[in-house]
Amino acid sequence: MKKKVFVFCLAFLFLGFFARGEKAKQGLKVFISVDMEGVSGVIHWEDVSRSGKDYGLFRKFMTQEANAAVEGALAAGAIEVLVRDSHGSARNILPDLLHSGAKLIRDWSGGPLSMMEGINENFDAVILIGYHARAGTPDAVLDHTMTGRFYDVVLNGKKMPEAGINAAIAGHFGVPVVLVAGDLALTRQAKELFGDVETVAVKEGIGNAAKMLHPEKAQEIIKKKTTEALKRLKDFKPYKFNPPFTMEITYTSEERANEASWIPGAKRTGDRSVSFTSSDFMEVLKFFSFAM
Ligand SMILES: [Zn+2]
Repeated sequence: MKKKVFVFCLAFLFLGFFARGEKAKQGLKVFISVDMEGVSGVIHWEDVSRSGKDYGLFRKFMTQEANAAVEGALAAGAIEVLVRDSHGSARNILPDLLHSGAKLIRDWSGGPLSMMEGINENFDAVILIGYHARAGTPDAVLDHTMTGRFYDVVLNGKKMPEAGINAAIAGHFGVPVVLVAGDLALTRQAKELFGDVETVAVKEGIGNAAKMLHPEKAQEIIKKKTTEALKRLKDFKPYKFNPPFTMEITYTSEERANEASWIPGAKRTGDRSVSFTSSDFMEVLKFFSFAM
């Protein structure tokens, strides 16, 4: 009798475990951070500035690329899709044209999650759309890192594009980046940093010019690759660093390095550079948000 009860309990535990795994599979939650410089069609700062004459057209393309990723995620079985508008004002994506299956985060909260506002450990995958290469990358479209003030951002010895910093934020919450879309130079940097990651190069920089896919073609590929990436979700690892975490920022001006050196815990490491070390990644992110 006792043995029977034991076997029953074991079977119950196994079933429970299996059911939980099944539930997690059905409950796919996807976080999409959307920047603008890496959207197909975009080539000039005017294209991504609210005062630019053609900004309205490019914010539509940005919304459509976000939609392509949303549709790809829904096709892969996502039950929750959160889109974070992460360019400039963070008020670029046209809310009425965004896929109704997604929720949208607009504007800046003032907190340190910045372009990843809304991410948490409940998400299963992160997708980066419209991204661009780090400041100083040759043959890259509108390369920069966060603001024009940063010459270089280095995290535990690695030069970081925004995609790297944001992947590390996702990694802090245990969530992997599964797809990165932007210009070819960015997709190369993403592969260098993350290893196995799906990428979509929607344009290829030629000096300050670029050869582009038609926006519709870019969207078609983003949708298809998003579904493919999410179907092999278990292959991707969260992008994580071992503590302690050290971030070194080199500025384009000495003046800003002087100001940032007064942030509590920051150290001046050179004429234009400041660094910050902590065993808590959130502390590094707080430093980063005040150091901009
Ligand atoms: Zn950006």
